[in-house]
Amino acid sequence: MEYSIKTSKPQEFINITGIVNKAVKESGVRDGIAIVFVPHTTAGVTINENSDPDVVKDILSALNKTYPENNGYLHIEGNSHAHIKASLMGNSSTVIIENGELKMGIWQGIYFCEFDGPRNRKVYIKIMKDNA
Ligand code: ZN
Repeated sequence: MEYSIKTSKPQEFINITGIVNKAVKESGVRDGIAIVFVPHTTAGVTINENSDPDVVKDILSALNKTYPENNGYLHIEGNSHAHIKASLMGNSSTVIIENGELKMGIWQGIYFCEFDGPRNRKVYIKIMKDNA
């Protein structure tokens, strides 16, 4: 399944746990895995704290301090910082589905990570059922 996400800032973390949850419910799969894949080179996906919104702000702030926008990069497009951050966060997350629910820690959320927005983005979600 393919989902569209419209980001509104140059850089932001968007909680997409609800989208993944909906995909699980719609699939009817009780036990299996959900794979979330981001098909972009300047955006990624990560799982982290969903309770205090300052946590993802701190992650972004730390990434920006470590990988500033201008740092003598060679890439002519001028967005190497975004490529680096996307690689660090990763392109996919996998979550176990148990009894029709995402089996995640209570404080965890799945975040789409925009590093070169705002843009129209996509997320691919694959729900797979256990064979057993
Ligand atoms: Zn680029």
